[in-house]
Amino acid sequence: MNHPKPQRTLLQRWRGAWRRWSLWTALVLLVVSMLATMVWLAGRYEASQVQTRLERDTADAVSDIRTALTRNLQSLQALPADLPGQLAWEVEASELLRNRREIVRIEWRDSNLRMRTHVQSPYRPVAWDVRLRDSSQSELTIACTNARRLGSPAYSSSYFQPHGDGLGSEMMELCVPLTAGGRTTGFLVATYALQDILINLVAHNLTRSQEASFTEPDGTRLAVMGAARRGSRMFTATHLLDLPGGTLVLRMDGWHTAPSLFPNVLTALVTAMSIALVTVMVVLVRDNRRRLRAERDLADALAFRKAMEDSLVTGLRARDLEGRITYVNPAFCEMVGFTPPELLGISVSAPYWPPERVEEYQQRQAIRFAGYMPPREGFESEFMRKDGTRFPVLIIEAPLINAQGQHTGWMSAFLDISEQRRVEELSRASQERLQATARLATVGEMASLLSHELNQPLAAISSYANGSLNLLEQHATPAPAPALPGTTPAPDALDDVRMAMRQIARQAERAGRVIKSVHDFVRRRDQAREAVSAQQLLDAILPLVSLQARKLGVRVHTSVEPGLPPTLCDRTMVEQVLLNLARNAMQAMDDPSVRSRVLDIRARRAASNQHSGWIEFVVTDQGTGIPPDVAARLFTPFFTTRPEGMGLGLSMCRTVIEQHGGFLGFAPNEPRGTVFTFTLPATTP
Ligand code: ADP
Repeated sequence: MNHPKPQRTLLQRWRGAWRRWSLWTALVLLVVSMLATMVWLAGRYEASQVQTRLERDTADAVSDIRTALTRNLQSLQALPADLPGQLAWEVEASELLRNRREIVRIEWRDSNLRMRTHVQSPYRPVAWDVRLRDSSQSELTIACTNARRLGSPAYSSSYFQPHGDGLGSEMMELCVPLTAGGRTTGFLVATYALQDILINLVAHNLTRSQEASFTEPDGTRLAVMGAARRGSRMFTATHLLDLPGGTLVLRMDGWHTAPSLFPNVLTALVTAMSIALVTVMVVLVRDNRRRLRAERDLADALAFRKAMEDSLVTGLRARDLEGRITYVNPAFCEMVGFTPPELLGISVSAPYWPPERVEEYQQRQAIRFAGYMPPREGFESEFMRKDGTRFPVLIIEAPLINAQGQHTGWMSAFLDISEQRRVEELSRASQERLQATARLATVGEMASLLSHELNQPLAAISSYANGSLNLLEQHATPAPAPALPGTTPAPDALDDVRMAMRQIARQAERAGRVIKSVHDFVRRRDQAREAVSAQQLLDAILPLVSLQARKLGVRVHTSVEPGLPPTLCDRTMVEQVLLNLARNAMQAMDDPSVRSRVLDIRARRAASNQHSGWIEFVVTDQGTGIPPDVAARLFTPFFTTRPEGMGLGLSMCRTVIEQHGGFLGFAPNEPRGTVFTFTLPATTP
């Protein structure tokens, strides 16, 4: 989960795109070839339908012809072929010829094939060449020989019979043997014109749309009948008409127009389905493209989330409802020093819990999983790094709600607050130090004041004591006058007084020395001078000043002139001076009438010539200002206008600055407030 996602190389991306495109191309090719095959098959099916119909028609025609020929044979056999009835035969044969137009001529021949009589069709007069007809090679002779041999009617093969006018037609003979008492008594020969067979025996509806013909086995047409060609595509069907003694081939040719775009319903259906398929494919492609875009957006969003998580300094950890860790971000891992695999899935006791607090934390976890909401502002706790060091953390927990609105666990954010703790500790220590220094300074100042104030009375006591002693000595040296009782003390008593006076003078001197030594102790800080830059002084007081400034709503500006040399001073005391002045300034601005609350502290070179080599600190406020009566007593010890004030701050400040040889003064600020200025010596370069 926290492993860095491998960057997709250009090669991988190219491969992915190529695979996608090749798949789509294969799909398109498959669909197109399938559609083409279906259209082709539909066309073929249609052609085969036409062919089948043609073949059926041909078979029907052959069957019709065969039936008609059989009927004709029966009619021929029914002719009265008796010798005395020759006339009757002729009449009936003529009648038959009139009814059956395909028969051109009927002959009655004797058993030696000599002609007895014959009748001719009135529809097709032909100039018969009798010699040729009676030759042993003629089709007639062959057919009758076959008939005699078989004892049944036989047909001859077809032959061309010229009509005498340059034209002619294909003919075919039928020889029917006449028998009486088992002997062949003669033959009936009927001559068929193939053309007329086609005209009369093939149904007209068949020849209306197709061409019927008799052909030789090699395809030569013998007789043709039917429609002229109409379409570009030809269909052909042939069928054998085998007759006893000879065989004919009936051929039918049908023309069909070239298949149009939608030749029939099937093709139309296939085409419609193809269009639907292509449409579905287009929709699919679009859908796929949309999905790809959505995928890309999702990947972008994920990358964005990941970048955001990785850049966080707040540690994040998610746990499911059983307390198992399901997610940790890099900041959390860095904080505790464990890798994600060492943390994920752990539920009972996390490795970053200090062993001595495991029980307490488990209880806390149990409370959380019992459904108690953690405090919104978070709570503090202590964690342990992998190396065993402890550190404080601020934990903010919130329930984890999934997309369906179900509570699936807890998400916690962690802030390592060790640095914050360290800063707080530092500032507390420095504040304590400054407060101690302030107290010390106050005590020192008081001591100094007391010594100053007590010196005079002590000196007076000492000189009075010495004066008294001198007086006592003068009275003691002349010869002693007669002692008046009650007026002159006894010499012993005078000695005691003298001694007491000496003691008073000595103790007064001693008290003076004690006070001087206290004074000296306070003044001894002169030795503690060091080179400190103005910036260091400001940096030292700023944390404390800022604390109070925040409370009072004051903005603090500081500036140090560039290239300023360091000052030579008692660092602690000067910090105290700066702090006092800044505090006074902020307190002066703590008034409802003051709108703009800006405290300005700057350090610069002293402007006046007489102070060259000095550094000037200026503390400016925009407070209530100092009225004249206050200004007159400002530096008087114990003078204050504040109920909780000591009134020693400014007097101490002046003492400190004067000890450094500097000068502390104040002036009204424009348009309002006060400017306090003091100078300190710069280190000589
Ligand atoms: P304390 O601060 O204990 O009152 P100080 O000696 O520091 O004693 O100050 C004496 C008095 O001088 C203050 O009570 C205040 O009235 C006045 N004062 C000091 N600084 C300022 C200032 N910047 N603006 C107005 N008044 C001031």
